[in-house]
Amino acid sequence: MDPILERYHALEKKVAAYTPSLDTQRLFDAFTYADAAHHGQLRKSGEPYIIHPIAVAEIVADLELDVDSIIAALLHDCIEDTASTHEEIAKKFGPNVAELVEGVTKLTRVQYVTKEEEQMENLRKMLIAMSRDIRVILIKVCDRLHNMRTMEYQSPKKQREKSLETMEIYAPIAHRLGMQRIKWELEDLSLRYLDPVGYKEIEEQLAERSAAHEEFLAAVQHRIQQRLSQEGIHCTVYGRVKHIYSIYRKMFTQNKTLDEIFDLYAFRVIVDDIPECYNVLGCIHDMFKPVLGRFKDYIGTPKPNMYQSLHTTVIGREGIPFEVQIRTWEMHQTAEYGVAAHWKYKQGLADRKLGTEQEFEWVRKLLESQQDTDAEEFVSTMKVDLFSDEVFVFTPNGDVVNLPAGATPIDFAYNIHSAVGNSMVGARVNGRMVPYETVLKNGDIVEIQTSKSAKGPSRDWLKLCKSNEARNKIRQWFKKERREENIATGRAAFESELRHCKLSLAAVTAEEVLPHILHKVRCGSLDELYASIGYGGTTASKAVARVRDEMLRLGRLQAEKAAAAARPIEESVIVPGSSAAPPPGQSAKSDSGIIVEGLGNCLVKFAKCCTPVPGDPVVGFITRGYGVSVHRADCPNAAPERRKLEEADRWVKVSWADSKLPNYKTALELSSKDRDGLTLDVAMALSAAKVKVSALSARSMPDGHAVVNMVLEVRDKDELAGVINKLGGIQGVYHVARSSGK
Ligand code: MN
Repeated sequence: MDPILERYHALEKKVAAYTPSLDTQRLFDAFTYADAAHHGQLRKSGEPYIIHPIAVAEIVADLELDVDSIIAALLHDCIEDTASTHEEIAKKFGPNVAELVEGVTKLTRVQYVTKEEEQMENLRKMLIAMSRDIRVILIKVCDRLHNMRTMEYQSPKKQREKSLETMEIYAPIAHRLGMQRIKWELEDLSLRYLDPVGYKEIEEQLAERSAAHEEFLAAVQHRIQQRLSQEGIHCTVYGRVKHIYSIYRKMFTQNKTLDEIFDLYAFRVIVDDIPECYNVLGCIHDMFKPVLGRFKDYIGTPKPNMYQSLHTTVIGREGIPFEVQIRTWEMHQTAEYGVAAHWKYKQGLADRKLGTEQEFEWVRKLLESQQDTDAEEFVSTMKVDLFSDEVFVFTPNGDVVNLPAGATPIDFAYNIHSAVGNSMVGARVNGRMVPYETVLKNGDIVEIQTSKSAKGPSRDWLKLCKSNEARNKIRQWFKKERREENIATGRAAFESELRHCKLSLAAVTAEEVLPHILHKVRCGSLDELYASIGYGGTTASKAVARVRDEMLRLGRLQAEKAAAAARPIEESVIVPGSSAAPPPGQSAKSDSGIIVEGLGNCLVKFAKCCTPVPGDPVVGFITRGYGVSVHRADCPNAAPERRKLEEADRWVKVSWADSKLPNYKTALELSSKDRDGLTLDVAMALSAAKVKVSALSARSMPDGHAVVNMVLEVRDKDELAGVINKLGGIQGVYHVARSSGK
């Protein structure tokens, strides 16, 4: 038989093995279509081109993806390299397949230039965000794997370029999607071209000692197996030497020779359920001496990419340390195939809930919302919305710029530099002139045209831009460049607002009043106030509200009740039983969400030291002059032993009311290993969790760790717990705690 046809039949067999209802004719049609489309094309190896799509489809089939993915893999280079079109593929194989092929094609077109780490991270996110459908990125990763496997036929320049791209983009993506097996292979293949000497050295040394390695692996495996079967534990044990790139990295970062590498070997014990995992751990620690500080429980706390296992490093009789990973079969599948395993699993067990595990946020969300739909629909609607609130675009020289979703060329221009934005006269997207309101899409190449004679931004731009950065820079420009104009427009707005509030300009600017007014609005002169209103630094209604307050205070308005209400809160002392009127805007329990026992209406403040949120047990302290200060019951400042005797009766019982504020401010402190991109990851996690951030600051400590302090606004303790959990999953983070008592 024709060897290509033979290879196709092997693929068909592989797919049929996990797809009972396989439509073999449809698959065969896809193969024939691709074969015809690539007819006459050769790979660098001299083989017919069709070998590549078949090989990619085989790798996709190893992941046991659905048939549409297999067909898309067969067709993945058709749009890019042959006369095929989206429409034709859609007509022959359905819109889903056409979408997948189109998605892979788009990723193929992304140009890549080596950049610093932050740029790399953006590029990875961009690829994932562009994929939309998770299967697109999976097929692309498989495509890259086969290209790396056949890289020997490329020129040395191409080998280096592709290897670097693989090491910096695709291996991390495979890691993020939890596909360890593919990640390792990509890393090893890349290393072979990036440092051929280093790679060969390790490869040869490992080969030289392979007999010794095999012997050691077999002996330890046998001992573990024997002991566990004595214990009646049903399990599979195997050992391996770690993959070359991980050894290489250790040799480099720890500056060691192969002989000095601490744990060259890794053993796996795979069991049926979680309790068995811990039983096995007990046995292993009984058999071998554990190395202190090397035990990690990724079952209790899975890695962000869903990885779960128990890890421990132990020292055997021979004095050789090795790592043991203990996991269930399900965890094993996830570790090897990552997100692909997950939905394969989901296809088999449609009724299983996976929502309680810590996984990719979007996977979890999708699984929850898809519980009732069938597997087919689940796969087709599984979209990557991990970065849906961001968009990633290119500068003409290949830098990636990260903007909020919905951003326009105006945002882009001001992101580059305010001078670029202020002198912008036109914008091109992917080589074409576009209007300023054009919404940028992932992967767009954006070019801004500037001119020295540009008139500067227009006020309309404030409505067209999406980022605060652009908005602020535009306002800055108006503030500086258009002072006269601003004063005029500001004055007009101010006067109209005054009339609206039945105040006269003359009354406000009277000699004995004006200094107080200016002090209140924090401006040096009336012109300054007008200018500020004119460029949008403040609004006329805010300014007039302050003016009004000040007029009230000065007794210039005939409004007795209002005057009483405006009495500064510092003047009222609140004691139990007092019925002092609450200051305006602070009235009683419904405003703060706190009920103070024995006190009807009183001013409530939340203690800055421990920032309680609904759900926390709380206690109140009646302060002198500013109401009841609410602490968390476990705040050190509220601890019974710290309470002064003479103040004993100032401590009161408080509780949460049914009606609460929409948000409560609370402070968190996160400690982590210091690394690039930490703050970005924290900010991303917070944005993904949709919590409002009032403050965020990071400090690097001299001992190589970093502390991030943040003030968040959350609804209650449950929401906060979710946020803490999410922050704890960020790479390198070891502790997230609520700030307390300092
Ligand atoms: Mn390809």
